[in-house]
Amino acid sequence: MVPLTNSPLPRNMIENSMFEEEPDVVDLAKESPSYPIDSDDVVYEPRSSRLLVRGLGENDLDEEEEDYESSARLLGMSFMNRSSSQRSAAASSYTRQQPSNSCSVPSAKKMVVGILVLVIIAFVAMFIYFVPRCTFSKDGCQKTNSSIEQLYPKASNGELFPWTGLRLPASVHPVHYEISLQPNLTAMTFQGSVAISMVVLQETNKIVLHSYDMKIINSTFQDEKVNILEYKPWQQIAIKVSKELKKGEIYVLKIHYSANLSNSYDGLYNSSYIDTNGKRRVLAATQFEPLAARKAFPCFDEPAFKASFVIKITREAEYISLSNMPKVKTTPLGDGLFEDEFEKSVNMSTYLVAFVVANLSSVSKNVSNTLVSVYAVPDKKDQTHYALETVAKLLEFYNRFFEITYPLSKLDLVGIPDFLAGAMENWGLITFRETTLLIGDHSSPIDKQLVTSVIAHELAHQWFGNLVTMRWWNDLWLNEGFATYMQYMSIEEVFPELDIDNEFLSVRFKALAKDALNSSHPLSTKVYTPEEVAEMFDSVSYEKGASILLMLKATLSKVAFRKGVIEYLKRYRGLNTQSEDLWMSLSQVTNPHTDVAEMMNTWTVQKGFPLVTVNRTGIQVNLMQEHFVLNADNATDHSNLWHIPLTYVSDICNNSSSCKQVFLFKDKTATIEVSEKVKWLKFNYRSDGFYIVDYGEQGWRALIIALKENVNVLPHEDRAALINNIFALSRQVLNLLVYLKNETETAPLTEALTQLNHIFMLLDKRSDLLLVSRMTDFKILHHNQSWEEESSVSKQALRSALLETACHLGRPNCTNQANRLFVQWRTSNKTEHIPGDLLKTVLSVAAQTEKGWQVLLDTYKHSIYDSEKRKTLQALASTQDVRKIVWILKAALDGSEIQTPELPLVISTVCRHSAGYLHAWDFVKENWDKLTQKFSIGSFPLQSIIMSTTSQFSTKTHLDEVERFFGSLKERGSKMRSVQEAIETIKLNIQWMDRNLVTLWKWL
Ligand SMILES: [Zn+2]
Repeated sequence: MVPLTNSPLPRNMIENSMFEEEPDVVDLAKESPSYPIDSDDVVYEPRSSRLLVRGLGENDLDEEEEDYESSARLLGMSFMNRSSSQRSAAASSYTRQQPSNSCSVPSAKKMVVGILVLVIIAFVAMFIYFVPRCTFSKDGCQKTNSSIEQLYPKASNGELFPWTGLRLPASVHPVHYEISLQPNLTAMTFQGSVAISMVVLQETNKIVLHSYDMKIINSTFQDEKVNILEYKPWQQIAIKVSKELKKGEIYVLKIHYSANLSNSYDGLYNSSYIDTNGKRRVLAATQFEPLAARKAFPCFDEPAFKASFVIKITREAEYISLSNMPKVKTTPLGDGLFEDEFEKSVNMSTYLVAFVVANLSSVSKNVSNTLVSVYAVPDKKDQTHYALETVAKLLEFYNRFFEITYPLSKLDLVGIPDFLAGAMENWGLITFRETTLLIGDHSSPIDKQLVTSVIAHELAHQWFGNLVTMRWWNDLWLNEGFATYMQYMSIEEVFPELDIDNEFLSVRFKALAKDALNSSHPLSTKVYTPEEVAEMFDSVSYEKGASILLMLKATLSKVAFRKGVIEYLKRYRGLNTQSEDLWMSLSQVTNPHTDVAEMMNTWTVQKGFPLVTVNRTGIQVNLMQEHFVLNADNATDHSNLWHIPLTYVSDICNNSSSCKQVFLFKDKTATIEVSEKVKWLKFNYRSDGFYIVDYGEQGWRALIIALKENVNVLPHEDRAALINNIFALSRQVLNLLVYLKNETETAPLTEALTQLNHIFMLLDKRSDLLLVSRMTDFKILHHNQSWEEESSVSKQALRSALLETACHLGRPNCTNQANRLFVQWRTSNKTEHIPGDLLKTVLSVAAQTEKGWQVLLDTYKHSIYDSEKRKTLQALASTQDVRKIVWILKAALDGSEIQTPELPLVISTVCRHSAGYLHAWDFVKENWDKLTQKFSIGSFPLQSIIMSTTSQFSTKTHLDEVERFFGSLKERGSKMRSVQEAIETIKLNIQWMDRNLVTLWKWL
C-alpha cells in the first residue's frame, strides 16, 4: 500500500545552537534558556500496557509469556513491586507462624483432625476436577467454574466465547474460500455467502475466525446447522463442535450473511463521484489491508493464513465487476441482474483479495503473456494511456529482474474516485487514487514522477508482499521497505529522465528525521491490536526500510544483492517469511565472511540510527558511534551499537565511486589511518548509509573551505547530506550556508530550503512578526528561476520549491508574476497553459482574493484532471480568510463538496499558514470522534492530521493543551504513537526556541 499525504514531517534540530558561528565565537545557546521547561511534568503511559488485555492463545504461548514479562518490565516498578510485596507478605506470614509452632509437638487428636482435613480437601479437589468434567486446561471449564469464566470473554449471546487471544489459534488452517457477493448500490448494503474449506493441523473442538459488523443469517458446518458465537471487541466469531476435529481432515464451514457497505474507506465500501453531466455516480470497491477483509466476508484474516479464492459477484447491467483473477463466465439471473464468476485464485493472504463493482472504461495491452489493463471512470478514459505504457515497461523490467514471471494472466490497474490510500497492491487488481494513476494534458513531469513511483511500488508488491508475504504485521517493513526500495531502483533503471534519485535522497532524510525521535520504533516491532497494526504503516516501515536496503545493496554490491533477492523470492515463493529469512538468503550469495543477519539485525531490532563522530589527529582518525536521538528528556540509551558499513572519500580521491573506502564499524570506537596530505574526509559516500556524521570543528571547517572553493568537489548527494547533518547537529550552519550562493543543484538547495522553511514555520506560528519578515529575505531565494515550460524534472522540482516559498513569503517579484499568469489562464478559459509544476504556486497566490477563490472553487468542482484538481484544492486551502478556512475544513469532513480522503491534505495545507493553524487544531479537537469514524485510530491519515496540527507548536501553553486533549481521549486514541511523537516534537520545538532564538535575532 502507498499512503498519500503532502504533510511535512517534523524536522527538528536541537542539541547545540545551530547558528553557532566560528568555534571561537561565544555560544549563546549555552546561556540559560529564557523559557525553562520542566520535562518531568509529562508522564507517558506505556504503550505496551495494552498487551495485558490479551489472553492466552494456544499458538503463541511462549510469545505470550514473553509479552507478559516484557509488559511487566515496561509497566515498571509499580507492577513488579506489587507482586514482590505480595510474595514477601506471604513469606513473612509463614515465617511469623513458623517460630510459634516449631518447638511444640502436635497431639494425637490434632494429628487425626489434621489428616481428616487433608482427606476432605483432597476429596473436594477430586470432586471439582472430575464431576463437572473440567480439565483446567487452557480450554477451561465452560460450565461452573467462576474463575475460568473470568478468563473467557462472553460472546454477544451471553455464552462463553471459546478463545481468548487476539491472534487466531493455529489449529485450523483455511485452504479455500468460495465467496458469493451481491452488493446493492441503491440500498448501500450487500448480501454474501462464504464456504470455507479448512484443514485441521491440531485436534480441536473449536474454529475461530474473523468477522466484523455483519449480520449472520444462517450457517452450517459439514452441512449441519451450527451456532455462531461472536466476540465483537476482537472482531472474532467461533463455532464449537461436540466431537474433536481430526488432524489432517478437511471440513467446510458455510456462512450466509448481510451487511452495510462500509462508509469508512475500508472493507467493501461505497464510493461516489459527480460525472461531467453533474450526476452523482456510485460504485463499490474494496480496501482490505491490513484488517478489513473481515468486514466483507468471514475469514481467517491474518497474512499467514493463505488460501485460494473463487469469487462470484452479482451486479446490475450498468456496472462491470472486477476481481483479482480473470472472469470465467457471466450468468444472467433475471431481473436485470448478472453473476460474474472469476477463476480460482493463486494462494494468497486475505488482505490481498479485492473486487470492484462500477461503471468503468479501460485500455489494455498484452505484455509478456499478461493482459494489462488500466481502468477509470468513463469521463477519464483518455487519461489512462500514460499508466498503461508505464506499467508495461515496469512489468517487463520486474519479470526480468526477479527472474520470476508475474504469475497471473491479467493485471488490472483501477483508478477509484473516492479512495483513501495512495494505492493498494491487491493481487492482479491494483487500486489507485485517481491522482496516482491518471495523467492528463495538464499533468507535469513531476505528476508523472508520482504516477510512475506509485505504479512501480505496487507492481513490486506483486513479488514482495503477494508472492512472498510477511508472516505477521510486525515485519510489515519486509513488504513496504522492499516495495519502496524497488520503486526507486526500478525507476532509476527504466525511467532515468524522471530524476528519481533526488526524491529517494529526500526520502532518506525524512526517515532520519522521524527516526531521530525517541518515540520512533524498531523496524521489526511487536504488534497485536488493530491500532498497533495500523500504526506500522508509517515512515519507518516504508522509508527507513527502503533506506537500509539501499545501504545493504551498496555494501554487498548490486549483483550480489540482486542474486540474494532472487534466491529469497524463489525459496519462499507462496510462503510467509520474517526478516531472518531475507538475511539468510542474502548471506548465502555473499562472501562467507559477511554475516548479513548479524549486521542487519542491528538496524531492524533497535530503533534509531547512529551518529558517527570523527576526530582527526594527523594521520589518525578516531571514530565513535552513539545513538543519535533528538531527545527533549535527555534519556538516551548509550549502549546501542550498530554494524555500520562506513564509507568515506577524501580530497585525494573523490570523483568516482572507485574512490570509496569501506570499513565495517561495529564497536563503540575505532581508528583508521589516512595520509598526512589528506585535507578533508567526507563519510557516508553519496549518503547511501543510514547514519549521520559529525566531523568536529576541524573537519567541518575543512569541508566548508573546500566547498566554498569549488562546490563540485563532492557529488550533489554528499552536499545535500552535509546540509542535512549540520542542521540535525545544529553545528556551524551559518558557515556552511555561505557556500550555497554557488550551489546550483536541486538536492542541496531543496534540503537547505526544507530546513529553513521549518524554522520559518515555527516562527510564523509564534507570530514573531519581526523575525518572520526578516526571514522572508532568505538568501537562498535569490536564485532567479524561469516561469516558462521546463523539461528537466530536477530543475522543475527546484524552481517549484523556490517559487512556492518565495510566493508563500509574499515576495512581490513572485506574487506579481503569479497573478499575471493566473489572469492569462482565467481570461483565456485555461487555454493559456501554466506549467504544471508551478500551477499550485500560481493558484495559491490567486486564492488570496475573493474573486480568485471563487474561480478556483468552480474549477475544483468541474475539473476532470485530478492533479489540477488537487493543486486547486491546495490553493483553496491556502486562503488566509478565516471564514473560508472554516468552510473548507467542514466541507472536506462531511465529504459533500470536497472528498473526505482529501481532508489530511486540506488540514496540512491550512496548517502551513498562521491564519488557519489554530483553527485546524480546534477543528481536530471538536471533531475527533467524526475523524476517527472516517480514519481509523492509528491509520496513516490520522497520523498525518495529528502531526500537521501540532508539530508547529513551540510554547509550554500549547504543549499542556495538546497533552490535555490527547490524554482525555483514553481508548479513543490517546495511546497512538503519533500522539507521543506530537508531544515530543513540541518539547523539542520549545527547546529549540530557547536555545536558538537569541542567536537567530543576531543572525537576521
Ligand atoms: Zn506498499
